[in-house]
Order: sequence, then structure tokens, then C-alpha cells
Amino acid sequence: MILQGKTALVTGGSRGIGRAICLRLAKMGAKVYINYVSGLAAAESVRDEIAASGGQAALLPFDVADAVASGEAIKKLIAEAGAIDILVNNAGITRDGLLARMKEEDWDAVADTNLKGAFLCAKAVSKQMMKQRYGRIINIASVVGFAGNPGQANYAAAKAGLIGLTKALARELASRNITVNAVAPGYIVTEMTAALAEEARAQLQREIPLAVLGSAQDVAGAVAYLAGPDGGYITGQTIHVNGGMYM
Ligand code: NDP
Repeated sequence: MILQGKTALVTGGSRGIGRAICLRLAKMGAKVYINYVSGLAAAESVRDEIAASGGQAALLPFDVADAVASGEAIKKLIAEAGAIDILVNNAGITRDGLLARMKEEDWDAVADTNLKGAFLCAKAVSKQMMKQRYGRIINIASVVGFAGNPGQANYAAAKAGLIGLTKALARELASRNITVNAVAPGYIVTEMTAALAEEARAQLQREIPLAVLGSAQDVAGAVAYLAGPDGGYITGQTIHVNGGMYM
């Protein structure tokens, strides 16, 4: 139970990768706040699964792209828990389309959720983490932020932006014993990738040296390492969890 006594917030913790991260951090002993925006039933099932295995979890719904809502919710969390030790900026969406057809609102929605959301949540936890002289911020980026992908200009730009945010905050917060890192997953089996056609999936597998799509647990493992004591001397870095598809 190496995270016993620690409090964690996982944005987008109700499904997919976020769900696996919540379960993993709770298993390590952390009290986990599960953020989501609309999927109450899914979030409740994560909370109940954690409680059933003896862990601690609570729901914290808010839209990460909404500065007022995220600020208020995180303030409430800190007042209730008395601390915030781990923030995982995992909430993310896609609004794919080729450049010529990509609407401005698709650009804005993805940038607001995937990049501005991480900035807002990091800002909201930073004061408390600085006071504690302890914190771990982990941003879930993507292979697409490094390699690019046609049809995902908004998503790739937001994810590449997260890497810059990670490095800037790592430098800014290091003197207060707060580490800031990114995990960049490749193609992971979740609802986000469920829409892939069979042929597209087969093609992807051919491009992955390990020849399989990843699991949410693979990503959660990297997050657990960065959040735990073994990750304490790592900051400003990205761990790629992609089966070798980008090196
Ligand atoms: P899912 O679509 O399965 O889950 C997304 C989660 O984010 C849900 O819990 C959703 O909650 C939440 N969410 C969405 N918008 C908001 C918002 N505005 N505020 C708060 N919560 C929100 O995604 P994945 O698990 O596949 O992806 C998780 C992260 O990993 C994302 O950042 C994604 O970009 C990244 N990633 C995923 C890859 C993959 O192959 N799956 C590959 C590389 C990176 P609700 O249901 O309530 O909307």
C-alpha cells in the first residue's frame, strides 16, 4: 500500500484508461476522486468496485474545460480531503476530421478539454501541492502528439501542447518537490478506439512492433510508477506506452 494516506484526482476516471488508473491507484492505497462529466453510472461503478475491494473513492463531476467548475470542485476536494497529492490529467476527447473540413468548434472542443483542461486542473491543485511541498502531476498525452496523424490536427496539437505544458510545469514546480510527467499511450483498447473498422485495426496492428493493441492497464502501470516512490526522481519526462510503434 505505497500510496496509503495519499489523495489522488483522476480526470475522466469513469471509463477506459482513466478507470484503470483509478482502480490501480486505489489498489496502491490512495483515496481516489473520480472525475467525469456526464457518465454518472460508469463513475459509480468505478467507485463501487474500489469500495468492494476495500479501497476509498469518491465522485467529483465537473467539466475540465470549465475554469469555474474545475476550480470550485478541486477546492471542495481539498477542503474535504485536506490534501491533494496526485493529479492525473486524463480526460480527453476526439473530434476527428481532415483540415479542410474541420470546424472551428471541433478545434476548440478538443483544445479546451485535452489541453486547457490540464492547465486548469494543474493550476487548481498547484497552490495546495506547493504548500504541502509534495505533488505528482501526470498528463496523459498520446503517440499522436509525437508522430502526428492525418485527420487529427486538433488532437495532435493539443497532445503535443501537453508535452510543452509538462516540461514548463516540471521546471516551475520542481523546487517545491512537485514532479510533472507525461504518459503517451499508443493505440489502447477503449471506447475511444472501439469505433475503428476491422481493417483499420488490422493495419494498426501491423504497424506495432509488439503486434497487439495496448490495454488500459498497460497505461495505468506507467502512471502507477510515476505516482509511486520509485518515480520520485523523474520529472519533465514522457513514458511512451505504445508497443514500439513510435521510438
Ligand atoms: P474514453 O473516451 O474511454 O474516456 C474518456 C473519459 O474522459 C471519460 O471518463 C469521460 O467522462 C471523460 N471526459 C471527457 N470529456 C470530459 C470533460 N470535459 N471533463 C471531464 N471529463 C471528461 O477515453 P480513453 O480512456 O480512451 O482515453 C483517456 C485518455 O487517454 C484521453 O486523454 C485520450 O486522449 C488518451 N489516449 C487514448 C488512447 C487510446 O487509444 N484510447 C491513445 C492515446 C491517448 P464522461 O463519460 O462523463 O464524458
